[in-house]
Amino acid sequence: MIHFLRMIKGTFPTDKFEALDTPFYYYDMTLLRETLDTIRRETVDKPFRIHYAIKANANPEILRLIASCGFGADCVSGNEILLALKCGFPANKIAFAGVGKTDREIHIGLDHEIFCFNVESKPELEVLNELAKAKGKKAPVALRINPNVDAHTHQYITTGLNENKFGINEQDLPDVLRMITDAKHIRLIGMHFHIGSQITDLSSFEDLCVKVLELREWFRTQGITLPVINVGGGLGINYQHPNHCPIADFGSYFRLFDKYLTLEEGQTLHFELGRSVVAPCGSLITRVVYVKEGIRTKFLIVDAGMTELIRPALYQAYHHIENISSEKPYTPYDVVGPVCESSDVFARDQMLNGSKRGDLIAIRSAGAYGETMASTYNCREIPASRFSDKL
Ligand SMILES: *Cc1c(COP(=O)(O)O)cnc(C)c1O
Repeated sequence: MIHFLRMIKGTFPTDKFEALDTPFYYYDMTLLRETLDTIRRETVDKPFRIHYAIKANANPEILRLIASCGFGADCVSGNEILLALKCGFPANKIAFAGVGKTDREIHIGLDHEIFCFNVESKPELEVLNELAKAKGKKAPVALRINPNVDAHTHQYITTGLNENKFGINEQDLPDVLRMITDAKHIRLIGMHFHIGSQITDLSSFEDLCVKVLELREWFRTQGITLPVINVGGGLGINYQHPNHCPIADFGSYFRLFDKYLTLEEGQTLHFELGRSVVAPCGSLITRVVYVKEGIRTKFLIVDAGMTELIRPALYQAYHHIENISSEKPYTPYDVVGPVCESSDVFARDQMLNGSKRGDLIAIRSAGAYGETMASTYNCREIPASRFSDKL
């Protein structure tokens, strides 16, 4: 017997969408609030601190809501720091990561006295020490260490393996520690890790915990205790079933760290979650421009493309797609954009309700690394954003 997964569709205010120009990003702010409440509930009685990773979605409306819930920010550029501050994140909850921090960006961090610089190399440490010295300040630093843990995710989004542009390798640690002892304007407060993104096999985080404990022990043998342990982000979401699983499994995720990473007195555990916070609440809403009958394939040519959402073209990412204007029987389509690149394909053989020119299409789970990665290639416009509580 053939078993069909019941097709549940998301609920969208299609009537209101009809009047709007497409494509645009639509954010379900109720879902975002529920997600933030879940995170808060799962962490409230623990020494856990959440820094939202701004690069996943830097829409000011979204940033203001996340900041209002008391979360900190994880920034990867000077401009992200400035935006985070503008949207209400306090400086003392801002962490700054990145392999190529420029002098200008370091100045921004120092001038605003941010919580922590996540330092990724020896030359960066030297420059940070010099720039802090010129200002008569001490820069708070967490060392980003490469734990050599395989995140079992796509090669473009794995970051924790040894030969990687990110982080400091373990064998360089003794050297780095000597540098820090001599650097009068560096204050070592922690260690930082980030092993990759869209991680759904939680055992990768177990591996990370084992590594963190080993390294904490090594620091102890050097006479150093570090108050801050930052395990980065990376928790994955269910892109296949956005309607069945709208909120990532934060319960299991935080319980895992609680179980495997026993903290010492005065130690706090920091998380930098991006995708899992904002991906599910966002959909890219686009319109069918043409239905083109190929030889074997029916193409839905829509008015959004890789310029609005590059994930499918960049790393073969899957996004669930729904026709929110039609209830006709399901049939397979290739959903493609208008951009002059053969990789401008959102999905092949996607089962959609029978579609016609003008129908509205929702490309789901697009709230992370969607709008922030938009480009103007082909002289296209950056897409607008709409919010469920402001339609
Ligand atoms: C991108 C990034 C994150 C967020 O990763 P997600 O997979 O979106 O949770 C966290 N920390 C650092 C250092 C990053 O570069």
